[in-house]
Amino acid sequence: MSADENQPPRPELVLPGISASQGIAYGPIFVYLQSDLEVPEYQVEKPKWSAEVTRFEQALLATRQQVQKIMAEVEKNLGEEEARIFDAHLLVLEDQALISETIRDFEKTRLNIESCFDRVARRYISAFEEIDDEYLRERGGDIRDVAQRVLGNLLGGHAGQRLTKLAEKRIVVANDISPSDAAGLDRSSALGVVTDSGSKTSHAVIVARSMKIPAVVGLRDLTAKVQATDTLLIDGYEGVVILNPTESTLFRYGQIQRQKRSHEQKLLDANRLPAVTLDGVELPLRANIEKVDESALVKDYHAAGVGLFRTEFLYLAATSMPTEEEQYDSYRRLAEALAPAPVTIRTLDLGGDKPIASQAHLFPKENNPFLGYRAIRFCLDHPDIFKAQLRAVLRASAHGDVRLMYPMISGHEEMRRANAVLAECKAELKAEGKAFDPKLRVGSMIEIPSAAMGADMLARECDFFSIGTNDLIQYLLAIDRVNDRIAHLYEPTHPAVLRTLRHIVVEAHRARIKVSVCGEMAGDPVFVALLFGLGVDELSMTPPLLPAAKYVIRNMKLTDARKLAQQALAMDSAKAIQALCAEFAEERLKA
Ligand code: PEP
Ligand code: MG
Repeated sequence: MSADENQPPRPELVLPGISASQGIAYGPIFVYLQSDLEVPEYQVEKPKWSAEVTRFEQALLATRQQVQKIMAEVEKNLGEEEARIFDAHLLVLEDQALISETIRDFEKTRLNIESCFDRVARRYISAFEEIDDEYLRERGGDIRDVAQRVLGNLLGGHAGQRLTKLAEKRIVVANDISPSDAAGLDRSSALGVVTDSGSKTSHAVIVARSMKIPAVVGLRDLTAKVQATDTLLIDGYEGVVILNPTESTLFRYGQIQRQKRSHEQKLLDANRLPAVTLDGVELPLRANIEKVDESALVKDYHAAGVGLFRTEFLYLAATSMPTEEEQYDSYRRLAEALAPAPVTIRTLDLGGDKPIASQAHLFPKENNPFLGYRAIRFCLDHPDIFKAQLRAVLRASAHGDVRLMYPMISGHEEMRRANAVLAECKAELKAEGKAFDPKLRVGSMIEIPSAAMGADMLARECDFFSIGTNDLIQYLLAIDRVNDRIAHLYEPTHPAVLRTLRHIVVEAHRARIKVSVCGEMAGDPVFVALLFGLGVDELSMTPPLLPAAKYVIRNMKLTDARKLAQQALAMDSAKAIQALCAEFAEERLKA
């Protein structure tokens, strides 16, 4: 879509979304709809040759139906002429040369059909791009768009997108971004991120928050509304975006930004001081990180070590599974950089909204990925991958206060199975004469209601619990954490959530083990007092959120936090509990 330069400026448009990462950003936009997908390459065995061609035909058909649907929508919303743009896309799908060349390539190489199609399509695209004729060059663009769609269909849920490095400072406006896209964002050029889909706890959003990139998500059809020449303002505090803001809006936001900055500076100044309540209790605040080089952030924000290292990002960024040695090197560097502070390494949590494009063949397409082949379930099914990681963590434990935890544990029996693999790794390392901490502390994440309900049994197998509220809430309330349509139903203060948290804490303390919370709820200053009041021992959050949490702690009494939790547990309205907690936090943040 392009704007006519002679047309009058487009009017200001205020659009509500979901606040995902705080901050205000303003600038020209970069619309990101599709980019090169990572296409795996593997040999197809003889019995599957004809099925592979059928798969290709089905993907072409599915793409055709998708394009027709988009055409109908565009025609309805923008008019018939705009919809005609997609005629060219349909023509590409019927292009016999492209189709038969792909099949010929497959017959020659017997490599998976997406890799054949990708090769042939790329050849076509570059041939068109070199032609010195604008119309034909554009046709290269059409092939590219359609090829990405076909590949997306062939790869199913594993189509990992890539955000290219932006040439200049822009607000990224995307239909969706994957966690690895977000991890690849360049803070100096990506001023902010706005997406049609997503929610507060989608992994891409968690990454944006850790990079301090303002973000608003769940804007439904924003990518269809924008034009390339639009400017956009993101208000990540309120969860609002303003398309083509007027001078007076920009002035108003300039003032808001100055106020916010001075408030943030006040929090940062106090952040050097210990996290001790007014009644003298020290409450540990640790960091959630995704990359080894974030150890610097952990120190900058004065976190008491790492409460959650999401190791899957090591895998998502790589083109093949990282080896034991590579992982050992990463974990050891992290442990050494932060010693004597603890580093809690979580084993691989792939699957769910984190499929791994380079290993697509290991993750079959599923109807319910969040209820499927994910995290510890995948690891227990792939002992070679799991053991490489466990051995690397064990070896790193010789170099600092390393702790280990497993994601998505459903109960004590699964915990025992994971620990049995760990025991095997210990025995092997001992026999090989490789050093590790024999007393390595091992914990379970509590993310599944069955683990919460069976906390008494599970606690006997664990040295600590770490509650992953992002998943625990999604499974407890049956709210898909990345679905923007139901995001308003995702309520951390739902009475059932509070009772579950309390139950976990009581059972853990009965077994004399500690409980941390490392989901996004822990990093929201509104919930800091509630969580500590419920008896949680420590919180772990993305480093930029630490100053606000610490400020609340330094200006509250633990006895008041406990009263707040008691009051909240006696209430039956999620909204009223939220308001009560917000008021408590607001008063402390004003101090
Ligand atoms: C959680 O579920 O709260 C959690 C910390 O794990 P993740 O967000 O990586 O699923
Ligand atoms: Mg989780």
